[in-house]
Amino acid sequence: MDNVFESMPDRIFRADLRVILLGVAALALASFLPAPAQAAGAGDNIRCETEHVTLDTAFPSGNVASCSLSGSKRIEVRLAPEDKPPINCSAWYAFRLTPRTPGKVTLILNYEACGHRYWPKTSTDGVNWDYLPKKFVKVEEIDGLKRARVTVKLKNVPLFVSAQEILPPSVYRAWLGRITKSPAAESWLLGKSAEGRDIPALTIRKSGTEPLEQVVLLGRQHPPEVTGALAMLSFVETLLADTPLAERFRERFETIVVPMLNPDGVVRGHWRHSTGHIDLNRDWGPFTQPETRLMKGLLDGIEKEPNKNLRLFVDFHSTIYDVFYTIPDSYETRPPLFLRNWLGLLEQHLPGYQINRDAGHNLGQPNSKNYVHKRYGVPTMTYEMGDETDRQKVRKIAKAAATTMMETLMETEAPR
Ligand SMILES: [Zn+2]
Repeated sequence: MDNVFESMPDRIFRADLRVILLGVAALALASFLPAPAQAAGAGDNIRCETEHVTLDTAFPSGNVASCSLSGSKRIEVRLAPEDKPPINCSAWYAFRLTPRTPGKVTLILNYEACGHRYWPKTSTDGVNWDYLPKKFVKVEEIDGLKRARVTVKLKNVPLFVSAQEILPPSVYRAWLGRITKSPAAESWLLGKSAEGRDIPALTIRKSGTEPLEQVVLLGRQHPPEVTGALAMLSFVETLLADTPLAERFRERFETIVVPMLNPDGVVRGHWRHSTGHIDLNRDWGPFTQPETRLMKGLLDGIEKEPNKNLRLFVDFHSTIYDVFYTIPDSYETRPPLFLRNWLGLLEQHLPGYQINRDAGHNLGQPNSKNYVHKRYGVPTMTYEMGDETDRQKVRKIAKAAATTMMETLMETEAPR
């Protein structure tokens, strides 16, 4: 983890972060300003007030375990996962600071489990995000207790402080509304989460056609994994582009996208799990959760249909660095050796970018990659972007990955 922070650039990526989200929605968090007296229906509304500032979490993805005051300009924030450890150390946090007087405020982020992972980002509107400069963040360990000391300068407006850019369901709704202006895209409801939230889906194909081959893309099983989510948005937009390749691809292939499988976890600011206390990406096989059962239903539906042929499954995530987890080339797939060919071509498209492929990761686990290959015999991949990978680079890789996926699929033999 130290290496990740060492490699954090000093400069602020304001422009990069803004470009991605501006196209998506300007409504993300703006409607939650200023701080409401009531919780927004997410997790518990945590609230701490000093004479200078109020901290609260009453907005989608807002979450800290608790807070307490240790001075008029200093707030202790306790961070804890939604379920007891062992849990993946994706220590999410998101809170809002509403100033009464402008000036500096210090937040001490105290980690009950794991430790500091996400570099703090700030925003006044939920659309424009800045990295906090290095000098305002100090990661430390005192007597075995892990914490981060974060200083922010408040002006006259509320400020969101968050582990990553916040991409709640409203952002997906706005994005789906925008991209379905294309006649090649149609959004629909896959089903409901455990808490009754919509789980949207999107079908991409040439309007009026019934392609015989299917690609399934999945996102946001793990709520904090925002760079994977950003990659998916760019990836999907590339499939919808007005390029000759994408047009040919949409004629032959139908792509079904489920961009956010765990909306409850996203809204509640979970580190990892669904509200069923389960890591959804360890539930492919048991299928104990309504969210994973919806995916099984979707994939089984494709399999049962004589005029449909699943060809590829890609699941978007984030971890501390960029990596593509695939099944090994020795596993038989239809089409054969697709992942080797795809990632080989991708490397050619991205000069200077070393493709990090790991074909041996967690092969025994009941995750989506293993299950979908084993059950349906198709190539499967977990597409992981680094937590702090430059957002322009995330977009560039996604665009190249989508382009080369289309090229490689178009080279495969069509069903007769
Ligand atoms: Zn993940």
